[in-house]
Amino acid sequence: MPEFCDVALPVPLDMVFTYRVPPDAAPVVGARVLVPFRQQRITGIVVEVHDRKPSVQTKTILSVLDATPVLDEQLLALGRWIADYYLAPLGEVFRSMLPLAAEFKRAIGYRITDAGQIALHMAGMSGSSARSRRSPEDQAIEFRVLDYLAARSDPGELSLVSEGTLRSATRVSKPILAGMIRKQWLVREDVSAAREATRTVKIAVLKSAEGKLNENQRGLVEKLAAAGGRVPVAALQESDVPRTTLATLARRGLVEIVEEPVAFAVSRSKPRDASFDFNAAQQASLNRMREAVVSRKFSGMLMHGVTGSGKTAVYLAGMRAVLEAGRSAILLVPEIGLTPAVAADLHHIFGDEVAILHSALSDQERAEQWHRIRRGEARIVVGTRSAVFAPVTDLALIIVDEEHDSSYKQEETPRYHARDIAVMRAKMANAVVVMGSATPSLESYFNATKNKYALIELPDRVEQRPLPAVEIVDMRLEFQETGREQVISRKLADEIRERLERKEQVMVLLNRRGYSPVVLCRTCGKKLDCKNCAIALTHHKRERKMVCHYCGYTAPVPKVCAACGSEYVYFLGTGSEKLEELLHGLFPEARIARLDRDTVRSHEDFERALNALNEGELDLLVGTQMIAKGHDIHGVTLVGVVGADDALGLPDFRAAERTFQLLTQVAGRAGRGQSPGKVILQTYFQDHYAVQYAARHDFAGFYEKELQFRSWMHYPPYSALANVLLRSDQLDAVLQWSGTLGKWFNNTRHEGVRVLGPAAAPLLRLKRDYRYHFVLKSPSRQKLNATLRAMLAHAVQQKIPRTQVIVDVDALWLM
Ligand SMILES: [Zn+2]
Ligand SMILES: [Zn+2]
Repeated sequence: MPEFCDVALPVPLDMVFTYRVPPDAAPVVGARVLVPFRQQRITGIVVEVHDRKPSVQTKTILSVLDATPVLDEQLLALGRWIADYYLAPLGEVFRSMLPLAAEFKRAIGYRITDAGQIALHMAGMSGSSARSRRSPEDQAIEFRVLDYLAARSDPGELSLVSEGTLRSATRVSKPILAGMIRKQWLVREDVSAAREATRTVKIAVLKSAEGKLNENQRGLVEKLAAAGGRVPVAALQESDVPRTTLATLARRGLVEIVEEPVAFAVSRSKPRDASFDFNAAQQASLNRMREAVVSRKFSGMLMHGVTGSGKTAVYLAGMRAVLEAGRSAILLVPEIGLTPAVAADLHHIFGDEVAILHSALSDQERAEQWHRIRRGEARIVVGTRSAVFAPVTDLALIIVDEEHDSSYKQEETPRYHARDIAVMRAKMANAVVVMGSATPSLESYFNATKNKYALIELPDRVEQRPLPAVEIVDMRLEFQETGREQVISRKLADEIRERLERKEQVMVLLNRRGYSPVVLCRTCGKKLDCKNCAIALTHHKRERKMVCHYCGYTAPVPKVCAACGSEYVYFLGTGSEKLEELLHGLFPEARIARLDRDTVRSHEDFERALNALNEGELDLLVGTQMIAKGHDIHGVTLVGVVGADDALGLPDFRAAERTFQLLTQVAGRAGRGQSPGKVILQTYFQDHYAVQYAARHDFAGFYEKELQFRSWMHYPPYSALANVLLRSDQLDAVLQWSGTLGKWFNNTRHEGVRVLGPAAAPLLRLKRDYRYHFVLKSPSRQKLNATLRAMLAHAVQQKIPRTQVIVDVDALWLM
């Protein structure tokens, strides 16, 4: 038996920790263990078992939680790759790969062993166990503990009693408990281990039929003998024999209770026939996907299909083919795509073989789904970002729907991008990865043009429906002509009126929540900012609150200026709440609803609004980017865009790409049914190429233009990029740290890596922290990561806390 094992712990330290293996335990690589760490008990993953005695003193593992690995070799390798690529601590990577938080939180409990039962039995027979060095008081306590646990032990269950309960019920001290564990009368277990163990079934095995038996006991022994000596405990308990009978027989050694794994549950509801009616382009892309899957070699495909081209149907058909071949597939969707309607479709097509992982699941439900997948009961997995780690067997296909969506990037450690993880996982599994979008990310499209991925085009909408015509309204002109700052242009108002008269439906996008985004004092010029962030508070009229959209801080709506006491407080600008009010004013007869984070608190809210639109119970839907994503509502013939180009003013190199994507996606909501659609695009940046190309549905044109800019500025995809952010609630600390690292960057050689900064981050203060950053760019990812690694080592040396240095590789936001 190896004496030591190395454990990756979910702590912000770039190392693994060595622990001593207790004599009777045999941890395996990839399994969870509970270990002591700085006064705490935490769960980590075993990464190696070995006999190399470490130079420092080691602590001993408290308990081994899994008999078999929770991370198989491939997932362990994937985790190592993530830790390396994103410079994240391995233990934190593993934690985010395992949705088992519910199990991590469990407490320790005690259970009586067979030896304990026997000791108790003997004590009961002879009155006392002979010649003991223990005091009679201690012995009394020990038997009280055994008695208490025996009374709560049920042979059909693995029943644990928590330490708190046990100690208060029996007044047992810790040393006595420890002594009883040494004598193997009790075991201490983690409840999560018990949860896993319930996946086994207890079998009663007949050992001997000798000895004096009462009627019940004899009945049970005969029953066991008649069944060949082995019967599941649960089946025995269905008979009218008292439960204690079996326990007594076990205690006397006549029957042994053994645990055996439950056979895989067989799925009950079968996938139903779903017929797909495909056009030539859809059929061709499905064929390519299927051929690639059958070859059992890695391949990457980028499916570029215009909005409404029927990508989802192709995904589902591809996954069905995988399921029919007895293999597994994972479909990743952005957060908002997982509506109950989609879930219902999935159940219809895949029956019980689908596991759906969405954000509304509790930790417990998430853990249960995970176990189902691991046991092989669900071979089709649909979920958001972290579903890329689903422990499926024989992975054949991963699909990343709306691959450009920024929700695939995790904005906390480890800061991975699920699309890129999907590609790496597919490589390791010799599987196929399909990335789909109407507006592919620059990176993915670049890779496709360089033949790293196959490019599949779906250039037309289904049933030859036309893409909507887009008309641009220049809001600067509107201002000159009307002499007023307008929210809804005359053109948009006219077009809405026309649709309402024809009983058609309208969507209006304004990508800003709340009523007014800025509150300003006209006397002293001060804005009302968040207490924790360098960001203006947004006025939410219905809730009568000022809200920070970054940290959630709220304040009362001011009547006078907080700085000078002036009464001339003005509320400026328009958010979606105010837009809804304005539309009510313009169209009092129309049935209007709003869809944004303030009106949608759950998936049900979201579904309700979309259903109402689908059922024709609504005329007009107002909302933020939530309305832009993936919905297929046939009655919508007009989409109005009111201020979707604000992002163009942000100091972020992806601003144009994001604007192009949002405009294209929201425009894509129009004209998906019988009647053709139209889009009115109001903008203050009418000459900007993102606006112009979006209006012409010209992805390729936008791509060429944007690529030029990226190349000049050495931005991705021409460079690997990382954002290094220093944060602290003390401004002095941040200034000092960024100075220290700035000096280090200046004084060390890091050939081929450009370093910009230190500079104040565009959001200087966020959630109470002051923020300074560096931006690193390099055509060589290896060089970039080597520099980052050396920088982190220097930061440790300079005693800059690891949690205050955020390294964001392939950062999506430089704010
Ligand atoms: Zn003022
Ligand atoms: Zn704030």
